[in-house]
Amino acid sequence: MSATLTLRRLEEAGVRLSVEGEILRLRGQQPEPALLAEAKARKAELIRLVAERDAEEIEERQAIQAEAMVGRPGSEHRRQVEGLIASVLQRPPSWADPASCPAPGSYCGCCGRFDAKPSGRWWRERENPSGWCCWSCHPPVHLSVEDVVEVRT
Ligand SMILES: [Zn+2]
Repeated sequence: MSATLTLRRLEEAGVRLSVEGEILRLRGQQPEPALLAEAKARKAELIRLVAERDAEEIEERQAIQAEAMVGRPGSEHRRQVEGLIASVLQRPPSWADPASCPAPGSYCGCCGRFDAKPSGRWWRERENPSGWCCWSCHPPVHLSVEDVVEVRT
């Protein structure tokens, strides 16, 4: 019986073989005495066969993982997306659409452009709003606190 056939018969009998260093481990079902004796006689060949099989499985798994990575966003794509998000969150110091409330993360393109992590503080009139303004660039000094709606982003 060849080592390949011995390996197949062991696995068909429910024995799981693994190699740890130079040690051949048999797990699962207990092989019948004749098959166990055959395994002991061909131990060195079985170690080589199981090690080769395990290496092929690892190689195959790595190939599948590498294939799954194709088409995923790389660092260049991620940087472009981050740039797009940053440009969407950048707002002018003021704009004339009261319905266009600054979104979370919005920052002023004038005073916030040099901050590493800019945040925004915006206001509009409570009655008859004309639009939104940056608190730093256009502070509402002409209005009282009750006449202002404030949003922090
Ligand atoms: Zn500003």
